[in-house]
Amino acid sequence: MPAERTPQPDCLFCRIVRGELPSKTIVEDDLLVAFHDIAPRSPTHILIVPKAHIPSAADLTEEDGPLLGRMFATAASIARDQGIEDAGYRIVTNVGRWGGQTVDHLHLHLMGGRAFDWPPG
Ligand code: AMP
Ligand code: ZN
Repeated sequence: MPAERTPQPDCLFCRIVRGELPSKTIVEDDLLVAFHDIAPRSPTHILIVPKAHIPSAADLTEEDGPLLGRMFATAASIARDQGIEDAGYRIVTNVGRWGGQTVDHLHLHLMGGRAFDWPPG
């Protein structure tokens, strides 16, 4: 495991993965956890978070293919369960300061329940 992927004591999402902080969990498996965003920006706003501490999408490699497949398949499955599939939804990952990333632990935002602008603001 690359050094930067070891669990980080002070990382917010590592702490949620370890159960040190509460979350409204929807799905958990060996690779990831999905929970409701604490400050939702849309009626459905769920975060899909790998258990490994990967800082952002900029740190992914080809070897992460299975993890990424699991993350997107989980997002699609949750979207079906939440009833947002037919209308459509958005999956977003922010990278770095100008990308709007505030938690430096990779996550997908699964957002739905309203229409979104394009391009994003
Ligand atoms: P980003 O700004 O793309 O890095 O996304 C981080 C997201 O984490 C934001 O949408 C926050 O509202 C959300 N967030 C921050 N703290 C928590 C928490 N304790 N539980 C759930 N979501 C959180
Ligand atoms: Zn982390």
